[in-house]
Amino acid sequence: MARSSTSRCRAGSCAAPLRGTAHFYCPSHWRHLLETLDATICQLYREAREIYVGRSNDPERRLLEHLVEYERDHLAVLHWSSDQAEIEKLETELIELTSRYSKQANLEGASRGSWRGQWNCVYVAWCWKNSSRGLPGLRFRKVDGLYHPRLVPDCTRFPKEPDFLRATVSPGQAARILEELQDAREQLWARRQARYS
Ligand SMILES: [Zn+2]
Repeated sequence: MARSSTSRCRAGSCAAPLRGTAHFYCPSHWRHLLETLDATICQLYREAREIYVGRSNDPERRLLEHLVEYERDHLAVLHWSSDQAEIEKLETELIELTSRYSKQANLEGASRGSWRGQWNCVYVAWCWKNSSRGLPGLRFRKVDGLYHPRLVPDCTRFPKEPDFLRATVSPGQAARILEELQDAREQLWARRQARYS
């Protein structure tokens, strides 16, 4: 079968050919994606002490890191892709969009950091402000460790419904969980080195 060299919109069954500066979605789907995610972030922002927009291939682990380092104990997974360029573009756009909020904690204006794993997500992390009672309608998956089952990339809908995660361990417990993960990785690495040296 002949393959077209034209890039096409990735949203659902749209497949509109892409022209000009549109790299991943046609202009209307890209705008719809940004507006939907911005609305989600805006809703959370009103009740949050501050927010941080980022990307990760392991949102549960990232949530525990946010908890240890910044006391952020909530994280919403907004969008998944296996394309590094798409995730970096979306992250940069959302950081820019949310920079109008005074309590946005991103110091860098654009996507930074290395790419790990097959699928990565764009997320927003936060903790509720003291006076907030949270958003009662939201359903959170509790994160109290890094064992399975874990959140899996969801690309069946566009835009996808956010997955809301809430850490239910203390920052000290989260730090121990992350240390154990690091130890396990180092032991695995050492065993592999020993086997192949
Ligand atoms: Zn489209």
